[in-house]
Amino acid sequence: MFHSQVDNPFEDDPFFSSFNVNIDGLPVGRSQFRYNIDDEFFQRLPFSSINRADVTVDVVFDKAPDTYSIEIDLHGKVEVPCDRCTELFFHPVEGSHRIVVKPTDKVKSIVRDEGLMLIPRGTTVINIAQDIYDYIVLSLPIQVKHPEGHCDPEMEKFLARFSAKEENEEEKENVQGTSDSPWSVLNDFLEQSNESNNDS
Ligand SMILES: [Zn+2]
Repeated sequence: MFHSQVDNPFEDDPFFSSFNVNIDGLPVGRSQFRYNIDDEFFQRLPFSSINRADVTVDVVFDKAPDTYSIEIDLHGKVEVPCDRCTELFFHPVEGSHRIVVKPTDKVKSIVRDEGLMLIPRGTTVINIAQDIYDYIVLSLPIQVKHPEGHCDPEMEKFLARFSAKEENEEEKENVQGTSDSPWSVLNDFLEQSNESNNDS
């Protein structure tokens, strides 16, 4: 996630100004917007490892007199390297999120915290590019992998040999018994309880 205060491309790069929502100018009630997130969105972010994307983002902005809420629906795909075979592939992106926006005197700049956005009272424009970025990245699993059987076949063969070797080594270790194996912990415990029995 992006938290740096200096050099924030979402604020500094004019490309992202199309994600400005003029909350002052919006009527009370629900307003809808649709964005299409393409390759350029991610290519303009120096910290992003994603280079290609096609995600439709539907945003509903619900305005009440003193609070707002933003619903963000994502539907599409982004290109990521497979954690298993390293080949690039498109991973689906899906998700629905709701952000409660609260104007307050307690903050000097926008503070985001898991579904809550605190904005300085009097803020007239909110930029939601960062929220869209965060939700797309968060929608990806920790391990991104091709569906079973779709990895690069050459790499698949290599991995099969490699994991067979690893299993052999694990077996050897189990036979020898390492110092932190569950059995050595149990042995230590038995020795200690024998000693305390002798003391009494
Ligand atoms: Zn793969």
